[in-house]
Amino acid sequence: MKGTIINIQHYAVQDGPGIRTLVFFKGCPLKCAWCCNPESQSPGSQLRYISYRCKQCMECVSACTNSGVSSEEGHMSHSFELCNECNSKICIDKCNYDAVALTGKDISSEELLASIAADISFYRNSGGGVTFSGGEPFAQHEFLVEMLQKCKALDIHTAIETCGWASEKALRKAIPYTDLFLFDLKIADPDLHLEFTRKPVGPILANLELLSSEKADIIIRFPVIAGITDSTKNLEGIAAIMYSNNLKQINLMPFHSLGTDKYEEHGMKYTLDQIKEFDPGQITAIRDFFLKQDFICEIS
Ligand code: SF4
Ligand code: SF4
Repeated sequence: MKGTIINIQHYAVQDGPGIRTLVFFKGCPLKCAWCCNPESQSPGSQLRYISYRCKQCMECVSACTNSGVSSEEGHMSHSFELCNECNSKICIDKCNYDAVALTGKDISSEELLASIAADISFYRNSGGGVTFSGGEPFAQHEFLVEMLQKCKALDIHTAIETCGWASEKALRKAIPYTDLFLFDLKIADPDLHLEFTRKPVGPILANLELLSSEKADIIIRFPVIAGITDSTKNLEGIAAIMYSNNLKQINLMPFHSLGTDKYEEHGMKYTLDQIKEFDPGQITAIRDFFLKQDFICEIS
């Protein structure tokens, strides 16, 4: 079977215990307003234009037969919808400066397993393994389950980073082969969750309940977004969900703006550029809130 991934990151030390290989799946059903991996949202491969590398040589304009790119007032302008449907993408080959690239590539389960298994000695020595991330791994649930099964056959520790949006059937298939779920909880209030992620929170909470009732190992991941997720009401709501599911650990993920260039590079719009990055004192206060509720709380 083949899946579509963005990239494979070796020797990672976050996103699960020990030294890990991270596999970033392409495609996500949520559209979080603060997303720092916007290139992971769409399921198919996408054209990326990296303007700071561009030398305005016009080789791409000459090569393109679809009028997908033009030069406008000293910068290149792409019709991204047209480019993402383009089969040739000849501009990528023609650019000598790596200013145009493809985000997302198809990979077979055998090829991906070989890349993961190459680091088996690191996993053994560090207590590490593989983490399937994204995007949302369950958006390609058949490929995900096949990869989980193949990794467990080699006795590799497996983790999934999930936004929680999955069918019950897919989740049940994954549970026996997954050692750790790194489960995102973002906003407890249903209306605000829908507004900022474009999906209802109900099915996500139902999946969390299912994992908890099946005694899966779960760590909650909480994105700390100033003015959106950091209200006392939301912190209390997240804590209540954790209590009711008998969960012990929450990891904080402070917002960073590192992904904002990627919106423009993929022809996407970023709407939250007024968000401030947190100072360490604010993060510590949120960590203290969860520690006082008797949760284990780490800052990622
Ligand atoms: S992706 Fe296709 S349509 Fe777009 S600039 Fe490249 S060759 Fe032209
Ligand atoms: S071929 Fe590459 S460097 Fe030349 S104009 Fe196109 S994107 Fe820029």
